[in-house]
Amino acid sequence: PTDLNTLADEYLRLAYHGLRAKDKSFNATLETYFDPDVGKVNVMAQDMGRVILNLITNAFYAVKEKKEKEREGYTPTVTVTTRKKENGVEVSVKDNGEGIPEAIREKIFQPFFTTKPTGQGTGLGLSMSYDIVTKGHGGELKLKTKLGEGTTFTVQIPSS
Ligand code: ADP
Ligand code: MG
Repeated sequence: PTDLNTLADEYLRLAYHGLRAKDKSFNATLETYFDPDVGKVNVMAQDMGRVILNLITNAFYAVKEKKEKEREGYTPTVTVTTRKKENGVEVSVKDNGEGIPEAIREKIFQPFFTTKPTGQGTGLGLSMSYDIVTKGHGGELKLKTKLGEGTTFTVQIPSS
C-alpha cells in the first residue's frame, strides 16, 4: 500500500528541483490538489512513481518550450491533482503548454516516438507509462489536449 498523495508530491518536487538544477532560469507555478480521501492504494510504488515522474517531466518540458516562445504574459503552470473516485483513484498532470497536435496524438504512446531533439527524449516515457498503468495495474491512461491551451494526462487506477 502506497500513499499516492505523498508519492505524487515527492516526484513533483524531485522533477522541479532537478530541472532547476540544470536550468537556473526555469520557473513554473506548481499547483497541487491532493484529495485526502485517496489514502493508500495498492500500486507498485516504484512503477507508479515512474509514471508520475514521466508525466510531470513531459509537462515541464511543454511549459518550458512555450515560455521560450512567448516570454511575456505567460505563466508556466503545472497542476497535479489526485481524486478519490467511486471505483478507484486517479492522478492527473496538467500543463498550460502548447498542447499536442492532432497529427501526432495517435503516435505519442508508441515506443521511441519523440518530437524532442536528439539526446533530450527517448520517446519511451509514455509507452512505458501506458504499459505500467494498463498491464501493470489494470488501469487507464487518458489524454485531454487542446492546441494553445495545454494538456492533461490522467491515470486511473481501479480499486483492488
Ligand atoms: P519523450 O518525452 O522522450 O519525447 P514520451 O513518450 O514521454 O517521450 O512523449 C512522446 C512525445 O509526446 C513527446 O516527444 C511530445 O511530442 C509528446 N508529449 C508528451 N507529453 C506532452 C505534453 N504534456 N505536452 C505536449 N506534448 C507532449
Ligand atoms: Mg517523456
